[in-house]
Amino acid sequence: MNAEIITIGDELVTGFRVDTNCAFICRQLTSAGYIINFTTSVGDSIESMEEAFRLAMRRASLVVTTGGLGPTDDDITKKAIVKTFKRNLIFHEDILSEIKERYARRGIEMPAINQNQALLPQGARFFPNKTGSAVGICIAEQGKIFVALPGVPREMEQIVQDELIPYLLSLKTTQNISSTTLKTTGIVESRLAELIAPGLKLEQGVKLAYLPGYSGVNLRIIARADTPEEAQAKCNALATEIAKKCDKYIFGRDDDTLEGIVGQLLLDNDKTLSVAESCTAGQLGMTITSVSGASRYFVGGGIVYANEAKIERLGVDPEIIEKDGAVSEECALAMAEGARQAYGSSYALSVTGIAGPDGGTEDKPVGTTWIGLASAHSSIAKKYNFGTERNSNRIRASYAALELLRREILDIK
Ligand code: ATP
Ligand code: MG
Repeated sequence: MNAEIITIGDELVTGFRVDTNCAFICRQLTSAGYIINFTTSVGDSIESMEEAFRLAMRRASLVVTTGGLGPTDDDITKKAIVKTFKRNLIFHEDILSEIKERYARRGIEMPAINQNQALLPQGARFFPNKTGSAVGICIAEQGKIFVALPGVPREMEQIVQDELIPYLLSLKTTQNISSTTLKTTGIVESRLAELIAPGLKLEQGVKLAYLPGYSGVNLRIIARADTPEEAQAKCNALATEIAKKCDKYIFGRDDDTLEGIVGQLLLDNDKTLSVAESCTAGQLGMTITSVSGASRYFVGGGIVYANEAKIERLGVDPEIIEKDGAVSEECALAMAEGARQAYGSSYALSVTGIAGPDGGTEDKPVGTTWIGLASAHSSIAKKYNFGTERNSNRIRASYAALELLRREILDIK
């Protein structure tokens, strides 16, 4: 079953808005068993929309659009639908009273222009919108389905989850699909492929994708089959096979995050953590505390940017900075040990590096970062060479620090 997504709006094709609707619908439809070969974005022009609608309806059995269903003059999707499907607009009293009630609940009288939102193409069914005034429109024609949804992400998402997906599943025309994501970190994509690819044979209907990000590489497995059990079995078999090949790099699955996993490990082991951040300047602490309940194991930390701060706040020996520099193994170790003492935590992580784009030398090019980890029995520091982009260096350093701690707790060499 092929599906296509068409997102509508000048803000999308001028680059003023990132198209998150498309990604959301692709994920939902893929999980429901659809195969998506094309997605399109189109500006606010009736002619362009009509062209995109016709082309997509020729190629796919399901077409989902978002945007342009509002009451204002710039919302013209319905006009394009009318032209494409050659259907008149019919007034729906029930939709209008629903919109009126929505306004009444907010203590506002419904503006007259909202009336046109109660007009639907003849023969169309509609999907109610719990949070906004634009209902979803669904036209079934010659065995194909066309669905137009509002552009506001929250409204669109609610209709997809509560209305569209149940409706599509009730048609029982989709294949069964199962998917899982293995989350890896501390290894680059190509090296991971070298570990996984040799001798790996993908069964029919099974796909494996490498999805690199700042926190690591996600391995997404999708399996299609005639029954849900068969799809699940194929998916599990591949996940098990991959795990055998690169187990120590896999920190979790699906919705797991590295910060969440590390937090859980600290809790399970009754340990606490503090940080001393130079180049990440708070990014590491922010990542750790993005997990709700982090206060149970995260004590706190310091942004020790200047050399004086490293010396005065953490007790780093001035000689270390003079001799080895602030970006050095010795300094990372001293920072971590200083933070562990200052905050009285079981572990302390430190980060000191050259975030860039300026400040690099031949010895220590931009991206050079030392991460330290102090614990009760020992301290370690590891050198990393990240890229040249300041922000991504900070994010990558934060995750590398968390990974260093994960490996320490789990004793992974
Ligand atoms: P409204 O009733 O609010 O006018 P609408 O169906 O007409 O809804 P739009 O006017 O196209 O939708 O968009 C409403 C809001 O949603 C805008 O802020 C827009 O930038 C945002 N939006 C629209 N399409 C997308 C998309 N594909 N991805 C992310 N945001 C989007
Ligand atoms: Mg609008």
